[in-house]
Amino acid sequence: MPDRIRFVEHNIGELQRRYGMKKIDVAMPSHMHDDHLNGFPHLIRHHGAQVWCLDNMVDILQNPRGHNLGCTLGEPFKVTRALRHGERFKWEEYEFEITHSPGHTEYQMALFATIDGARVAFTGDAFFAGGRENTLRHNLIFRNHVESDSHIKSIRNLIAHEPTLIAPGHGKPFPVDRAIMEATARRMFEQQRLFQEVLPDGMVEFGLDPSWVRVYPYQMLAAPGERQRGELRVRNYKPSPMKVEAAIVAPAEWSVEPETLAFETPARGEASRPFHLSIPRGWRAVSPRVAIAVDVMSDGRYLGQIAEGIVDIREPGDGKREPGE
Ligand SMILES: [Zn+2]
Repeated sequence: MPDRIRFVEHNIGELQRRYGMKKIDVAMPSHMHDDHLNGFPHLIRHHGAQVWCLDNMVDILQNPRGHNLGCTLGEPFKVTRALRHGERFKWEEYEFEITHSPGHTEYQMALFATIDGARVAFTGDAFFAGGRENTLRHNLIFRNHVESDSHIKSIRNLIAHEPTLIAPGHGKPFPVDRAIMEATARRMFEQQRLFQEVLPDGMVEFGLDPSWVRVYPYQMLAAPGERQRGELRVRNYKPSPMKVEAAIVAPAEWSVEPETLAFETPARGEASRPFHLSIPRGWRAVSPRVAIAVDVMSDGRYLGQIAEGIVDIREPGDGKREPGE
């Protein structure tokens, strides 16, 4: 398979010449965005690197078509080791601790290590230098899956590890102290208060999450004459169980089983139910991609078609080839 064009191997030679790097044992993504991932298939193929990551990124990296998130990498690759929040590991003489660091995206880690006497926090795209009023600069992208307390979790975590240096996902490492982190924490609490002010009572997290109802996989691949399995997944942010009734809306000639899905999602939890789509043999698609929708009622309230999925139509007998391969 040819390498994707966005990746240029620009600094490995320098690492070898200037720092005596012999081999790339492990590559660890800070988070699930393609501008941080597109060299990973190259490192696996050409350098024999393993990939270790925070456990909640595994399915996104191995099965990017499953998810409707911002900037996933189209090319799937294999994860060798999944690490949990709070897990520690050793590499050569260094000790690392990995923590969940949501905010920029739910699927992001922070990695802590002491290197040459500096306590370094590798924080991906969570926090950058140069925020207003002596704070760290942060960002907010709802398609990345962010909850009202995501940034608070990350900044508290950062404060607890007392880093002296932040190595962000873009730009140079920069020094950090407690006053900057505390001021940032106050801003993150203020941000949460603003979310609560703008969104209806009890509905803050639903308002922030465009995919609390979602189809998995988000991008399916099917041919006329085939039956495809999908899942409807629901995230319930309420402190009580929530009833969901939903119908998958597909082209009129297709059949959907079951016709409606009715189930309860646990308080502050997730639930999913399978469904099957059957495309009649000989069905002619007007375009190579077809949208399906989900018509939803939650606790007796009709919400309309609030989620969607994509079905890429391939020729019958075209194997399981992914588009673009
Ligand atoms: Zn990013």
